Amino acid sequence: MLSDDELLRYSRQILIPRFDISGQEKLKSARVLVLGAGGLGCPVALYLGAAGVGTLTLVDDDDIELANLQRQIGFESGQLGESKAENLAERVRRINPLVCVSALNQRLGGDALARAVAEATLVVDCTDNFNTRFALNRACVAAKVPLVSGAAIRGEGQISVYDSRLNSSPCYHCLYPEQGNEDLTCSEAGVIAPLVGMIGSAQAMEAIKVISGVGTPLVGRLLILDAWEMQWREMKLARDPSCPVCSG
Ligand SMILES: [Zn+2]
Repeated sequence: MLSDDELLRYSRQILIPRFDISGQEKLKSARVLVLGAGGLGCPVALYLGAAGVGTLTLVDDDDIELANLQRQIGFESGQLGESKAENLAERVRRINPLVCVSALNQRLGGDALARAVAEATLVVDCTDNFNTRFALNRACVAAKVPLVSGAAIRGEGQISVYDSRLNSSPCYHCLYPEQGNEDLTCSEAGVIAPLVGMIGSAQAMEAIKVISGVGTPLVGRLLILDAWEMQWREMKLARDPSCPVCSG
C-alpha cells in the first residue's frame, strides 16, 4: 500500500516499532478536517501533511495580516491580503506532494459543517471563537468523529481530545456551558509566539495517536499549560450525564 517513495519519506517514523508500517498506512487512509488556519492551524497542518496524513482539508475565511506573521508560521510577508487556507494548503503541498490537501476559504456552519465533519476521520479544532467550537462539538458528537481541541491565549494553553465513539468520553460541552462565555481572542488579549506552536504540535501528535491507535490519547484529560512558568497541569474530565449534547 505504501510506495518506495513513501517508505523512504516516512522512514523515521516507520522505524518506531509501535508505529511501523501499519501506523503509516492508517495515516495515509485518514481524512483530517482542520478548522482554522491561524496560529494553531499552521503547525497542525504542516506536521500532519509532512507526516503523511492522506487527505487534509483546511478551513479558514480570513486573509493573512501583518500582525499574524509573528506566530502563524505557515505564512510569509509577501502573502499579505491573501487567503490563509489557500496559502497554507499550498505550503503543505510543497512540503509533501504525496498528500491531498484542499482549502476552503469560507466559514463552515450548519449543514456544510455537519457534512464536512461526517466525511472526516478526525477533526482538529484550531479556531478562536466559542460559537464555532460549540457548533463543531455538536457536529462531531452527532457524527461520532473524534475531536482534538486546542486553545492558546497570552501565555496559557489548553488541549484535550473528545472521542464520542467511546461511551466514557466527555464532549466539549460537558466542560463548558454554552451561555456566558465571552470570546477572548488573541487579537484582543495577545499571545506569545511559540505558545501556539507548542499547543498546535501537541494537537498534531494527539491526532496521529488517535488515527494510528498508538499511545494513550488525551481522552478524559485536559492539559493546561502555563508557558511563562513552563508548568503543565492535568485535569481529569468526566462526562456530564445531563449534557444536552452527548447524553440522552
Ligand atoms: Zn457532553
